[in-house]
Amino acid sequence: MAQPRVRAAGGLPAIRYVLGKAWGTGEFTQTLQRLRSKNTCKTCALGMGGQNGGMVNEAGHFPEVCKKSVQAQTADMQPAIPESFFAANDLTALRRLSSREAENLGRLAFPIVLDGDRFRRIGWEAALDLAAGALRDTSPDRTFWYASGRSGNESAFLMQLAARAYGSPNVHNCSFYCHNASSVALTEIYGSGTASVTLDDLGTSDLVLVAGANPASNHPRLVTQLINLRRRGGTVIVVNPMSELGLRRFRLPSDARSLAVGSQVSDFYLQPRIGGDIALFTALLKMVAWDEAFVADHTHGAEALRAHLATLDVDELLAAAGIARADAERAAAAISAANTGIFMWSMGLTHHTHGTDNIRALGNLALARGFFGRPGAGLMPIRGHSNVQGVGSMGVAPEVKQAFAEELERRYGVTVQPGGQDTFASMQAAHDGRIDAAVLVGGNLWGSNPDSEWAAQALQRIGTTVSLTTKLNPGHFHGNGRTALILPVLARDEEAQATTQESMFNFVRLSEGGQPFVAGELRAETDVLATLADRVLGRERFDWTTLADHARLRQGIAAVVPGYQSIARIETDGEFTVQGRTFREPSFGHANFHVVQVPQAVPGFQLMTIRSEGQFNTVVYDEEDLYRGNTTRDVAMLNVDDAVEAGIREGDLIEVRSEIGAMQVRAAIVDIARGSVAMYYPEANVLVTPRLDPDSRTPAFKSVPVTVRRAGH
Ligand code: SF4
Repeated sequence: MAQPRVRAAGGLPAIRYVLGKAWGTGEFTQTLQRLRSKNTCKTCALGMGGQNGGMVNEAGHFPEVCKKSVQAQTADMQPAIPESFFAANDLTALRRLSSREAENLGRLAFPIVLDGDRFRRIGWEAALDLAAGALRDTSPDRTFWYASGRSGNESAFLMQLAARAYGSPNVHNCSFYCHNASSVALTEIYGSGTASVTLDDLGTSDLVLVAGANPASNHPRLVTQLINLRRRGGTVIVVNPMSELGLRRFRLPSDARSLAVGSQVSDFYLQPRIGGDIALFTALLKMVAWDEAFVADHTHGAEALRAHLATLDVDELLAAAGIARADAERAAAAISAANTGIFMWSMGLTHHTHGTDNIRALGNLALARGFFGRPGAGLMPIRGHSNVQGVGSMGVAPEVKQAFAEELERRYGVTVQPGGQDTFASMQAAHDGRIDAAVLVGGNLWGSNPDSEWAAQALQRIGTTVSLTTKLNPGHFHGNGRTALILPVLARDEEAQATTQESMFNFVRLSEGGQPFVAGELRAETDVLATLADRVLGRERFDWTTLADHARLRQGIAAVVPGYQSIARIETDGEFTVQGRTFREPSFGHANFHVVQVPQAVPGFQLMTIRSEGQFNTVVYDEEDLYRGNTTRDVAMLNVDDAVEAGIREGDLIEVRSEIGAMQVRAAIVDIARGSVAMYYPEANVLVTPRLDPDSRTPAFKSVPVTVRRAGH
């Protein structure tokens, strides 16, 4: 069985790693200064930093040390990629680079353009002329505009404004490949697509249920909250097909007691088979004590749900989930005993063809217990990139709220056209040859897609891709348009103007900016977008160049984005929580139950693609996955009984085959539910069939039917 080198996650290895990374920049003091600067953490959406300074959470706690933030910071502190590199490496060579190798190339410090079989340096004026020409020479409906969650609110707002003024309805962001199922379900349940709780609520809750998430690897400081909750006498329940070291035992670097002996993270660890979540949540719904007063006073749809539940048998549900009755009973008893509870989840729930139903089913359980509309209770999607939620709030989505659209029209004379493409629809359009230009602000769209070969074909059929980025990644080499421009931009802690970001707790932080680490031709994203809009649209409507001013953009955001009024005064009045999204009293009217059908169990192996401890989203910082004991990423993680049945032993070369592809990798025997296989994202995207959840149009990255056998047999 794969054995981790550590007995608990975090701890001294994490501290050594952080110090080593900081030392490795050659600018140890400056690295620490940058980590402590008044800028929002660049990595996950838990949210640290801002005006409290780095390594501080919104409750003011310091130090919140985290490998993830150090990885992102030190990656930005690499030297510039020399011009000679591009002359020496053609596209074929660049396509051979792994994510880690591309990340380690350094900072992009001047614009480049694909010229024949290799990139070459190009001046900003010529680059912007090329980009503007591509947009002018086609019709807006043959373009799309995509943003990752790296950008600040200001550039995200400007991007959607420019796209819509230009006339393209095809505006979207990376959440269509991660948490859109959460947004869809939560909007149906209580009218807002984001978490209903603040960080403070985690400090008072009796119980937390973590489903389909591995915060120890992806949101490390969230584990601090879980450990603190248990120290207060609270209960933590984990639902995850795979046993994750960091969700069992973690050493908090900022806590002497925990650092010395480690801290238990969870009380109950339920391991359903992949795709068994609805069966499990529905069984628990039948087993827990309902808060009948809350249900009667604050919910709709309970009678229809009760009628549905009456047709279902708990034992059959648990058998479908792959959970022993005794384990479910203990979890149900804990949920029933808690006065308050927070249910949180990540892509383990959303990345299925029934992703939205997964959240609806979990929402039913929360409402039945009355875990909503009071302190310490609610629902909480664990969001990925640091400003992915803010980018959505800024309207980088094909559909926006009516109030948003009306004010955008009134203030800017810009119409939000209906019928815009979401991310997958744009990829399909590109594959069909119906996209002539794409503006890609951050991220790695190629690497975020299912079916890597199909995704490369789609993006390579686009006439012109215009990418704004701080560093290069494989998406730039596999997802290039026929004309491919890559424009270097400043990270948020390098900007001359302040920017803002929104955490998964709906808390808006102010980043003060700073100085770029490398000398070069880096520009602010807003500067690039405003200049591009100016060249494409002219000044008939208004002077786009004035919209490179962030304070002015924030005035617009305050007027247009519901709940964001306070952003107009954030520099004087301070950071704030977006209004109307968190519910500490029953101000939501009635929340809605849903009748959720239990999906049929799929025979055979189901593959889920997962992240490692040494990566964030598509970016791989380290090949080793310290917490799972894998020293390389070309592995498939299997259940021991499944392996024995298939005649597979640890380290064997095996073939994992899906409908669209096959990979030969090494077998790693881990503690995972039977019938489940785990492989690393984004490499395993070559196996992911593009099947979507019909309600959120999120690809099913975590329920891919596969066969597994020893290679050569
Ligand atoms: S938990 Fe997330 S926000 Fe906090 S320091 Fe780590 S990466 Fe940054």
